[in-house]
Amino acid sequence: MAFKDAGGQRGLYLAEVGRAERISPHIIRVTIKGDDLRRLPRRGYDHWFRLFLPRDEGEIDFTALPKQFGMTGYLKFKASGLADRLAVRNYTVRQHRPEAGEVDIDFVSHGDAGIGGVWAGRAQPGDPVALIDQGCGFDPIPDTSFYLLAGDESAQSAILGILRDLPRAARGLALLELPELADAQQADAPEGIDLRWISRADPQATPGAAALAALKEFQPEYPATLTAYLAGEQTLATEGRSHLLSAGVPKSRIAFVGYWRAGVAHP
Ligand SMILES: Cc1cc2nc3c(=O)[nH]c(=O)nc-3n(C[C@H](O)[C@H](O)[C@H](O)COP(=O)(O)OP(=O)(O)OC[C@H]3O[C@@H](n4cnc5c(N)ncnc54)[C@H](O)[C@@H]3O)c2cc1C
Repeated sequence: MAFKDAGGQRGLYLAEVGRAERISPHIIRVTIKGDDLRRLPRRGYDHWFRLFLPRDEGEIDFTALPKQFGMTGYLKFKASGLADRLAVRNYTVRQHRPEAGEVDIDFVSHGDAGIGGVWAGRAQPGDPVALIDQGCGFDPIPDTSFYLLAGDESAQSAILGILRDLPRAARGLALLELPELADAQQADAPEGIDLRWISRADPQATPGAAALAALKEFQPEYPATLTAYLAGEQTLATEGRSHLLSAGVPKSRIAFVGYWRAGVAHP
């Protein structure tokens, strides 16, 4: 299964920070708000978007951004000069309250490197942002007999969103690795899904390695009707997929995406 997105239905949404709060040792929740967010489709599951964050001080004309971020939109963005002043990072909707025009985003706070995590740590009410809707990557294939979800802390919003929106009769296993259990959030999962929180015992270990080890222990009973979603550090996603392929799960039923790569910054 390709990691899906909303195709032609994407759009540009302008917003500003409403509030920002560290909700657990490694997670900062930033609530963005604005009238545009009242019309953002409520897609549920792992609904994600491209977030434009200022690299510097001063006024930025966010309305000059493209409405889509395909090849043409990306080239327009590069040519406009805005790329020097705005960074683009991908994030997931944690909660969307269209009636209030609000979206919560949970940022992993991963130190001083990069833009997104640092920006969240400094976010103040009124700070402007813009996002381009990208839709959902997860596809709940109707004949699924078993869901297998695996991720690290960057995928907590995606996996909890998928668990929240799956049919209540769904069965499966969710492996969610976190730096520590204090980062775990309340889950609204179907009863038939075994949600296992995995605490990273070694703080120096690459995020996702422990979830990958647990995933490699798993052998599906009915691989032909298993649907998988693997997200987080690149190695978890790619090696997790290889394991499931060798266990007989069809390619078309595995959505996998390296959300980030250890030691590699986005431009
Ligand atoms: C579809 C999608 C949805 C996503 N949703 C979320 C989300 O809801 N919340 C979220 O926090 N992230 C999410 N991510 C991941 C996020 O886009 C990346 O972590 C991104 O690299 C963060 O940008 P940055 O500017 O903080 O760091 P970068 O500039 O990209 O990287 C700087 C350094 O930090 C390291 N780094 C980056 N991310 C992490 C991390 N999570 N843990 C440890 N080290 C890291 C890099 O390896 C690099 O060395 C999502 C990614 C995708 C593709």
